[in-house]
Amino acid sequence: MSQNVQGTRSYFLWVFLGIITLGICFIVYNLLNFLDLDEHHNRYATKENAPSTNSQAWLMVLLCIFVPVVGGLIALYIKYSKLHDHLAVYQGAPNIPDGLSIVLISLLLSLLSAGIVFFYFEWKWQHVFNEHNRWHARQETQGTR
Ligand SMILES: [Zn+2]
Repeated sequence: MSQNVQGTRSYFLWVFLGIITLGICFIVYNLLNFLDLDEHHNRYATKENAPSTNSQAWLMVLLCIFVPVVGGLIALYIKYSKLHDHLAVYQGAPNIPDGLSIVLISLLLSLLSAGIVFFYFEWKWQHVFNEHNRWHARQETQGTR
């Protein structure tokens, strides 16, 4: 099951929940993404030689509430760049676009209204984070033998 390893989540389950709750679960899901990044930092920061994934989740929430559009773009930038930079040091690990690319892609897509590409990158974000968290979990089980 995808919930067994810290930080792994089922993207399709959350998309389904997001649709039937008219978007409320999309907001919850994004908050969980930031909390997962912070948790990843707290859990592994001292064990890995990689850039921090600390996203300051609650600061991101405040940004989105008080400066909706610009704050949302900053939060999107942080969400992608934190994980991108973190994974970049692991050679061969699948990765996502960096923060600036995803902001540019989102701005372009909002003009073209082709949200499907954005859903793809959101899926990809969760997918590579799941893989990375499972990798950590495997490392930990091997380490305790
Ligand atoms: Zn890591």
